Amino acid sequence: MSSYPYGALAVNLSDVILILSSSGTTGKPVLTFYTEKDYKLWMERLVRNLELIGIGKGDIFVNTSNQGMFTGRGYSEAALLAGAASIPIGPASPERHLKFMVDLGVTSFHAIPSFALKMANLAKDTGLTEKLRLRKAVIGAETWSESTRRRIEESLNVDAYDNYGVAELGGPGIAIECSEKNGLHVWADHYLVEVVDIKTGEQVCEGEEGELVVTTLTREAMPLIRYRTGDIVELLPSECSCGLKTPKVSRIKGRADEMVKVRGISLYPKIIEEVVSSMPELTGEYQIELSNIDDITVIVEVKKWVQEVDRLVNELKSKIKELTLLNVAIKIVYEGKIEHQGKAKRVLDLRQL
Ligand code: ZN
Repeated sequence: MSSYPYGALAVNLSDVILILSSSGTTGKPVLTFYTEKDYKLWMERLVRNLELIGIGKGDIFVNTSNQGMFTGRGYSEAALLAGAASIPIGPASPERHLKFMVDLGVTSFHAIPSFALKMANLAKDTGLTEKLRLRKAVIGAETWSESTRRRIEESLNVDAYDNYGVAELGGPGIAIECSEKNGLHVWADHYLVEVVDIKTGEQVCEGEEGELVVTTLTREAMPLIRYRTGDIVELLPSECSCGLKTPKVSRIKGRADEMVKVRGISLYPKIIEEVVSSMPELTGEYQIELSNIDDITVIVEVKKWVQEVDRLVNELKSKIKELTLLNVAIKIVYEGKIEHQGKAKRVLDLRQL
């Protein structure tokens, strides 16, 4: 958005009570504004999210991403409004969070998937899985695959749910999974969603894929009309066996700007993640490097105990080929070598340089 800093503000600055920003995968931070009413409704939606997945009174809740201007921080207050005991640990390493979770008998948490994955690997490698008392986790703000979900659920002994939000649209609290875990229920009393063809902008039919476009219905400070999120989803039928009747979309398949065209094939990083996360010898962290004209190198982290990597390289190559039809090179690095500041950056495109 070229409106930085106050161009998108629709009320007097004196009516604003909170300014947050996107966690910034690209470029300038995008600011998002809340009036008192915006904030109250935001909390109501987050409480609704927590209640839908069964977090509330009796729970001990940790928001692992309670950091500064990131909208994920909203869950700290929402958890206490939902009746849980909320512990604002603040920025801390996965080690420290796990120690708190074990010591205090934490039952639920919020995290971005790359952080939850770090905690999952650590719990498994240090034998903490059995000592955890976790029940439910609400996870979002990055795309994450089903194999990453399995790894998080198994290693942290937790039931993990995806939730969707966009900072510009008010942060999390737009949509969440129900117990069926096969799509996101959209809170249609606050957001009007459309799924459109990326090129033509025409609405797609049920079962088809396109870009999620959102109109805010109740925001005062920063209302947006037909905001193109850049997130690719499939439009699902609104009937759900959980009984809730709302518009439904699939989990995010990828970002339109993350989709890379290689040798005429469209590739979303999530497909690579599906393979990488399914192999126990790997941490689940990965990056995709594009170089020369169309060379792809998939960089993966191997766990410290792994000795033999040739078999892994071959297995990765053939699994990726099977899913994407692409021949890729594999680069193996040791655990902890792939680092991210905040949200994970999955694609390194060196082709334009
Ligand atoms: Zn449902």
